[in-house]
Amino acid sequence: MTPSGSYRFRPVQVVFGAGALDRLGEVVAGAGLRRVLLVTTPGRAAEAAAATRALGELCVGLFDRAAPHVPAALVTEAAGDAERLRSDGTVAIGGGSAIGLAKALALRAGLPVVAVPTTYSGSEMTDVWGITTSDRKETGRDERVAPRAVVYDARLTVSMPATLSAASGMNALAHCVEALYAGDRQPMSALFAREGIRVLAAALSEVVRDPADLGARERAFFGAHLAGRALDMTAMGLHHKLCHVLGGTFGLPHALAHAILLPYVTAWNAPAATLAMSEIAAALGAETAWTGLYELRRALGITGTLRDLGLQPADLDRVAELAVAGSPANPRGVTRAGVRAILEGAWTGVPAR
Ligand code: NAD
Repeated sequence: MTPSGSYRFRPVQVVFGAGALDRLGEVVAGAGLRRVLLVTTPGRAAEAAAATRALGELCVGLFDRAAPHVPAALVTEAAGDAERLRSDGTVAIGGGSAIGLAKALALRAGLPVVAVPTTYSGSEMTDVWGITTSDRKETGRDERVAPRAVVYDARLTVSMPATLSAASGMNALAHCVEALYAGDRQPMSALFAREGIRVLAAALSEVVRDPADLGARERAFFGAHLAGRALDMTAMGLHHKLCHVLGGTFGLPHALAHAILLPYVTAWNAPAATLAMSEIAAALGAETAWTGLYELRRALGITGTLRDLGLQPADLDRVAELAVAGSPANPRGVTRAGVRAILEGAWTGVPAR
């Protein structure tokens, strides 16, 4: 393929390796930060304590109430804490929710972020932010929210249950899938996306087989890193839009919504994205992109539907309406009827075709 398009890499320090958390203080100081607010979700007390130890005097406070989809009220509260503590930056330890709150603080208060991910959301590598006000999730891109440094310590992920690991990994896979059919794809984003699919598919199967397998965890983290890079370089399509609507307006768990929807959106987009579909199928070693994703999801133990996540039949029209109103960049023209067909498949669980 003849290369075309352009890309830009932001300067970011990325540290990989089991035990890398021990270097957090050095990384934060290297990022020019001296008084960081540690941000996490409830339930990550052990990880927060380990980060606090690694940071020593660089940590001036903890905000441990980050929540899914970054409610605006929490951003205001955390920004108040950061101001009171005279923080000059944040360290987010946790999944996309913790990283999302830190990004919102970067957007609102100009506080640079260092990310220590504990899931496979890939958010740590992107300049994408999201904030939910009332029941609407607003998203955007801003250079300032992209973390200055990222520490991947796979020891932090062995506590992640198999189902969350699988769902979170499917969220990363979705970044790769949409990056491959994005209108602004270029050779580097495609490279990251294809390799991300290959690495994730292999590693996630190992992780689900044995969640304590540190080597598999390290490989899955690398796959998530590649996926985050791919997402960072390309526009998100209908799939991500639907997941933001399902999470932001209907409160569905983000990673599981990704995992359930992905084969259906992929099948629907297939006629309009033949190159991407052949690349996805090849990376999965499958006959078609959507069957490969469907089978992988099943093999990872995710067999639920949108109905199982609590979406009501009456909600399907509203989801379709909101997704179409968002006019996502997408290879196939987004229509109410098309989105409705995708949602019905994912709601009933009838295999896509
Ligand atoms: P999450 O951060 O909400 O975490 C889900 C749950 O898992 C939480 O209770 C959390 O405490 C727990 N958890 C986290 N790490 C764990 C671990 N190692 N072991 C056990 N439990 C653990 O979920 P998520 O899927 O990581 O993130 C979802 C959010 O991230 C959504 O709001 C989504 O929109 C956002 N996101 C943003 C981007 C971006 O580029 N901006 C990319 C992907 C996702």
